[in-house]
Amino acid sequence: MRRWNGWGDTATDYPLPDSAARYLESLIGPGRPAPDASFESLLTGVPPSRLAPHPLVRTDPADRALHARGHSLPDWVALRTGRVGTFPDGVAYPTCDEDVQALLEYAGRTEARLIPYGGGTSVVGHINPLPGPQPVLTIDLGSMRRLLSLDTISQLATFETGIPGPQVEAELGRQGYTLGHFPQSFELSTLGGWIATRSSGQQSYHYGRIEDLFAGGHLETPAGPLDIPLHPASAAGPDLRHLVLGSEGRLGVITRAVVRVRPLPERESFFGIFFHDWEAGAEAVRAAAQADLAVSMLRLSDAQETETTLALSGKDRLVAWADRGLRLLRYGSPRCLLVLGVTGSAVAARRALRDAQAIALRHGGLPTGTAIGRIWRKSRFRTPYLRNTLWERGYAIDTLETAIPWATALGTAESMKAALRGALDDPGEQVLVFAHLSHVYRDGASVYVTYLFRCAADPEETVARWRRLKAAASQVVVARGGTISHQHGVGIDHAAYLPQEKGSLGIQALRQACRTFDPHGRMNPGKLLLDV
Ligand SMILES: Cc1cc2nc3c(=O)[nH]c(=O)nc-3n(C[C@H](O)[C@H](O)[C@H](O)COP(=O)(O)OP(=O)(O)OC[C@H]3O[C@@H](n4cnc5c(N)ncnc54)[C@H](O)[C@@H]3O)c2cc1C
Repeated sequence: MRRWNGWGDTATDYPLPDSAARYLESLIGPGRPAPDASFESLLTGVPPSRLAPHPLVRTDPADRALHARGHSLPDWVALRTGRVGTFPDGVAYPTCDEDVQALLEYAGRTEARLIPYGGGTSVVGHINPLPGPQPVLTIDLGSMRRLLSLDTISQLATFETGIPGPQVEAELGRQGYTLGHFPQSFELSTLGGWIATRSSGQQSYHYGRIEDLFAGGHLETPAGPLDIPLHPASAAGPDLRHLVLGSEGRLGVITRAVVRVRPLPERESFFGIFFHDWEAGAEAVRAAAQADLAVSMLRLSDAQETETTLALSGKDRLVAWADRGLRLLRYGSPRCLLVLGVTGSAVAARRALRDAQAIALRHGGLPTGTAIGRIWRKSRFRTPYLRNTLWERGYAIDTLETAIPWATALGTAESMKAALRGALDDPGEQVLVFAHLSHVYRDGASVYVTYLFRCAADPEETVARWRRLKAAASQVVVARGGTISHQHGVGIDHAAYLPQEKGSLGIQALRQACRTFDPHGRMNPGKLLLDV
């Protein structure tokens, strides 16, 4: 069963070993656990629905509570404390395009606002209803999750968009194919959500980001249906796919998507390589990307992330043993871990590994084989469960990310980290900050920063601390010319920063596009663009 106030399935846990708890305490102090509100008490705060009855619309408090918040830190605080504030007035579960059309028509008649909802894993407030005089209806695509066709000649698959990651891969895997889109939220996030947020999977270096995989599809919008036709490539003017990608529910509901798939790889392995410092590792990673090396993943942690990952892994004996070996080889702390993936035919994978290791060696890297890679692979979708455990120990954890050209990438990362470290000096709180280069390109990289701090006794103060941290790092990102998001999207939390990135004419163009498809501003208002 899915947790209502935390990550993932209630059957899965990520316990924190005592040594890891001591490690955190030594860095940021003892956590301050607070009791959680019960689901029943949350339900007592759900107000009567303002929606007119409709056969597709459910208004029971439990449905509404389960669709009220996503996974940003303020969302967590709201759910854990039972202070959610605004709930959708109802939830609909369409099963076909005609249902979606009926809901759009209903919203037109009743002036309801609509929020398309995939897996609800947004970390920037995308699916949260905002307060206002109009009722809010959440459209949950969870009943539209079929594989409609697989064209093995063209390697194109057509899905309904409410399908979550594991089911995408299960459907394709049965027939020997994969989409290869593996965001860390894979377990719960959906194809529609990936498209609407311009998501990036952990192996996007090999498979491509969702914008490379999304080949066409169908939207139901308040202004009518929109088909995005399938072309391998086209010079017929601007590409409408790119209007849909990252549209965050503002244009309409994406009901079907055609995606580019590949045969399952013959071989896939992950390897650990240690570097003495982040700069040397980053040089190696840049060299690999610019040599077009056919690896599938290059994920380079800074020294703090490397040590924290080892400390929180729960594999104390293995880590101690590995640490002794690394010290003997002069790779004691500080050291930086690169996790490298190779995917494809056995011959291609062998060649990619050989070439990558040669580059790593030239930059002082120490290849250590597959042991670390195997652990990484096993825990790749389990790591988010650590968020539950940390919260229960009284710690808040969040991440933010950007992408920036190589020339300024490491400098920007250092400034982001420094801004986060100093942001809670005033209440005298320590912040544990670490980063990795998560996705690399020929011209730059995505910098992914994680920060951990103690929850305050007052939940409002925890959110205030988070706001200060988020603002400090976001200001660095925009000042340095980075994008406000490489993969999480804009939602509410990044909307104020978007004008600096797009420019006023750019924002105007986006507003006009929204008006074209949604003339009365019913689709997910307040997200992506401020006050449309
Ligand atoms: C632990 C964790 C790890 C994460 N890791 C990654 C990662 O590695 N890479 C990454 O890219 N993101 C990551 N995310 C962020 C999040 O998972 C992505 O933004 C994801 O794409 C959201 O998909 P979803 O189905 O949950 O969408 P939702 O959260 O339900 O919705 C997100 C937005 O998309 C819109 N939307 C959803 N479906 C449709 C549709 N069918 N039609 C129109 N609009 C729609 C919604 O209106 C909303 O604006 C992570 C989040 C968490 C909590």
